[in-house]
Amino acid sequence: MNVHEFQGKSLLKANNVDIQEGFVAETSEQAIMVAEQLKEKFGSEFFVVKAQIHAGGRGKGGGVKLAKSIEEAGRITGQILGMQLVTPQTGPEGKKVNKVIIAQDVYYKGDSKTEEFYISILLNRNTGRNIFMFSPEGGMSIEEVAEKSPDLIFTEEINPGIGLQQFQTRDIAFKLGLKGIAFKNMQKFLEGIYETYISCDAQLLEINPVLKTSDDRVLAVDCKLVLDDNALFRHPELLAMRDINEEDPTEVEAGKHNLNFVKLDGNVGCMVNGAGLAMATMDIIKLSGGSPANFLDVGGSANPKTVEAGFRIILKDPAVKAILINIFGGIVRCDRVANGVVEAYKSIGEIKVPVIVRLQGTNAEEAKKIIDNSGLAVLSAISFREAADLVTKVLS
Ligand code: GDP
Ligand code: MN
Repeated sequence: MNVHEFQGKSLLKANNVDIQEGFVAETSEQAIMVAEQLKEKFGSEFFVVKAQIHAGGRGKGGGVKLAKSIEEAGRITGQILGMQLVTPQTGPEGKKVNKVIIAQDVYYKGDSKTEEFYISILLNRNTGRNIFMFSPEGGMSIEEVAEKSPDLIFTEEINPGIGLQQFQTRDIAFKLGLKGIAFKNMQKFLEGIYETYISCDAQLLEINPVLKTSDDRVLAVDCKLVLDDNALFRHPELLAMRDINEEDPTEVEAGKHNLNFVKLDGNVGCMVNGAGLAMATMDIIKLSGGSPANFLDVGGSANPKTVEAGFRIILKDPAVKAILINIFGGIVRCDRVANGVVEAYKSIGEIKVPVIVRLQGTNAEEAKKIIDNSGLAVLSAISFREAADLVTKVLS
């Protein structure tokens, strides 16, 4: 689960991490009030208006703008709210901006002594350990740094048994080229972000840029936080930060039925039980000349209800030209799934695209009979090869 920048920053602040302060506004009037507050509390003269969407690269798309007065902060907010913000991470359709934050300008007027760093914490799946990834080249995307100067990206791996050690925070601060008070502040910053990452069961915490000001403060200007969905059950306060407006509506719908669904851009919808079989099915769709419109794992215990929910979700995608249902009857018997398909087919009404059902495993033969005798325009197969050939046939 992703959260917004302002939510991530609030968690950082709770762990004693210095941040670029700011507050949410959903109208120009609120923006003006927030700017007034920032002026009162922090003496801010300039402000930054930042679109809150679940995507990075907002600066490049015009979603982060400097305002040189309270009135300008209000005006810019009016321009950004409601816009369809396109960034390198949103896709061409962009994302609608419903909220902004008004933040203090932390780069100070004409200050040339600021430095921007990149710092993230994530899991290294090869070693099963968390790592810090960091670079003195902050501000731009880490992909750009990787391309231009890969030697300027460093990592530091954390031993889970003993946690982050002082020699490691020193090593990181040193490689970032810091000295004196800024060095000490960076060490404290690193401890705080590590604590944030661990305590909320995150799978990614990326801060880009981390800013060193001319008066040696070290602060988080941005925050991208991705939480581990499988750990959310123990963090109701984090689950409350979920913003469904930012998520793909079809994926939200699938989640309600406990279906594991990922939208893809091909033409063959697929419904499969088990993630491994789902991957293999996507391969076979490719082999037969199509391309998968989605990944959909209905889980080990597929029943008529989940099959129907899966059908409805796949059919929402106008790009779907055929549907392949590929179920292995291990825990679930094939004849039950076949009945589920027939029932779902009837209850949905008219399904205009060809449907191919491949059922293998317990009672597969019986299942094939049920499909063949149903009188529905459903093609049945038992082997993988047969199913692939049928997909090729209906697509040509
Ligand atoms: P992103 O583009 O989605 O990664 O959003 P960021 O929060 O990283 O902001 C984008 C860029 O805006 C940063 O890299 C900074 O260069 C700039 N920016 C952010 N905050 C300030 C600020 O307080 N003052 C100034 N002058 N620029 C800022
Ligand atoms: Mn950023």
